[in-house]
Amino acid sequence: MAGASNTTLSMKLLVDTKAARVLYAEASKDVVDFLFSLLTLPVGTVVKILGNDAMVGSIGNLYGSVEKLDETYVRSADAKGALLAPAGGYDGGKLLQLPEAAQPTEFYRCSAYFVGCSRYYTECATDLSKVSGTRCLNNSCSGTMTTKMIIVDSSRAASGGEAAAAGQSSGHAAGKGFVQGVVTYTVMDDLKVAPMSTISGITLLSTFGITDIGMLQEKTVKLGYEEGLKILKASLQSKTVFTDVFLVKKK
Ligand SMILES: [Zn+2]
Repeated sequence: MAGASNTTLSMKLLVDTKAARVLYAEASKDVVDFLFSLLTLPVGTVVKILGNDAMVGSIGNLYGSVEKLDETYVRSADAKGALLAPAGGYDGGKLLQLPEAAQPTEFYRCSAYFVGCSRYYTECATDLSKVSGTRCLNNSCSGTMTTKMIIVDSSRAASGGEAAAAGQSSGHAAGKGFVQGVVTYTVMDDLKVAPMSTISGITLLSTFGITDIGMLQEKTVKLGYEEGLKILKASLQSKTVFTDVFLVKKK
């Protein structure tokens, strides 16, 4: 199953049709990984993808102020970029099909440095530039930073070999993300997540005070880019996230 990142996720909702609310969702590892990965997003990224006006509180104004700030007051374009489109977040900002935060994957080191050469400076070995051809930061060095360095994907490092050796599509997924893929997870409307095996369905229903099973309905929903954004937004301001996102409001 190549290109898993392009696969649209889905999950099963248990809906109380009488109260028009989602009781809980049955979610796979991929869905839980997406939900957990929201925690890795820098605040600047959250504002960027949701929009200033969509933010509760004042953080959107903070973001808007940076956007409006005249170049003459900003130290560099890099500084502005670091605020408006910060690097980081899970897998370089790649969440579901959310837009990837721009993050360079290649850096350049001073070309004067090579192992065994005694004529390099500390900076030649340690400093990296995002731009090829940048002058070496050590003033005594006449080198330019053109030796390409590559950021490795840590999730594909040697220790992940076990999962790869499993040789099955689920084995591929098991080596990525945050949670184990062997179980289904229960996600409450307020985004409390737990492995399903620890919660009995009947116990759950009794905690919701459900007496008439006939009012319950299963609803499978897809979880793509739009839904991902809505869940992120709702998670910041609501305790009924799935109800808000997936149930049509009756007026
Ligand atoms: Zn150098």
